[in-house]
Amino acid sequence: MPKRKYIKAERTKKLEKEMLTCTFCGFCKSVCPYFEDNQWDPSVARGKVILAYGLARKEIPADESVVQRLSQCTTCKDCERRCPSNIKVVDIVESARADLVEAGCILPAHKKIIDNIKQTKNPYGETAKVDFGVPTKKADIAYFIGCTARYRMPEIATHTISLLKKLNVDFTIFDEVCCGSTLQRIGAKEKEVVKLMKANVEAAKKLGIKKMIFTCAGCLRMFKEQYPKYVEVPFECEHLVQFISKQELKLRPLPKRIAYHDPCHLGRHMKIYDEPRKVLSMIPEAKYVELSESKETARCCGGGGGVRAADPAAAQRIASRRVKSASDVADLLVSACPFCVTNLKYGNEIIKVNIEIKDIAQLIDELLIT
Ligand code: SF4
Ligand code: SF4
Repeated sequence: MPKRKYIKAERTKKLEKEMLTCTFCGFCKSVCPYFEDNQWDPSVARGKVILAYGLARKEIPADESVVQRLSQCTTCKDCERRCPSNIKVVDIVESARADLVEAGCILPAHKKIIDNIKQTKNPYGETAKVDFGVPTKKADIAYFIGCTARYRMPEIATHTISLLKKLNVDFTIFDEVCCGSTLQRIGAKEKEVVKLMKANVEAAKKLGIKKMIFTCAGCLRMFKEQYPKYVEVPFECEHLVQFISKQELKLRPLPKRIAYHDPCHLGRHMKIYDEPRKVLSMIPEAKYVELSESKETARCCGGGGGVRAADPAAAQRIASRRVKSASDVADLLVSACPFCVTNLKYGNEIIKVNIEIKDIAQLIDELLIT
């Protein structure tokens, strides 16, 4: 990466007015998981807004430190909730990242993700086929597994498949490619993201899919919010928790204190709060405990927005705080996103508190009486 250069920053320039509404009040400091971690102003929303503004105005060169600071955002959106000026911080950060990437300024870890997706169609660079034993066929319903459940947490995929089978759902899976979320979060070229969108939609269309079910919050948000901006999506998209919350679930008792971690992309970004709680409330003898920071105010797991790849130590520390606060009140911490689950478990590796961490698909499959 060149040491100092001023970049075009055309996308970020379009948000100049938005950035000028920042009053530097610092309210975002009280919620930003990255600022909580390193207590450094450039890492909080207002710091990133200043950097992005400087890039757009060609007052700040795109050196390594700027690229690094702008990568320090999990895109959790908590600052936007707190910001009295309603600044769209995530859009600003993602625009600045895209401008930086276009100018060739990118962290090696993020470049690796882009290269992996180009070569293998998944961010992990995995080449082996994973067989989940579900035939690809014409069907009304498809389960979009997502790269993290497919390659890093296959138990979430296998439990989801088992759960759908137990519920007598006629569904298929298909040769999906990465949904494109990670690429878009880290600022990869739009045409690379659109290529993935088209591949997934075309594959689903060929099978006549009417409803796509997701277990990953990031994939779902991508299909619901971003795909329609670029491609026609001729099917309904919903999270597994939304799907199963409408079913009569007969579950075995589980006499434990259960807490729910709202994934930022499911909660703050898409406002899906009630369905996972409804599903958990169906478990006999379980005591549901609401975390003190939940729903709109839920703390981020620390792994999103390319942070887990670029700064795994920070992602782990942020996750460990979330796990610690849950372990004070619960025996089992449940989430509804493989990325959150894997990062929360990673967080617990450094604090080793006594709490189980599970995805809701796994938990419900284990408890479902057929
Ligand atoms: S809360 Fe909003 S207005 Fe206040 S400093 Fe942060 S980004 Fe700026
Ligand atoms: S989106 Fe989250 S991580 Fe990014 S600046 Fe805002 S609060 Fe911090």
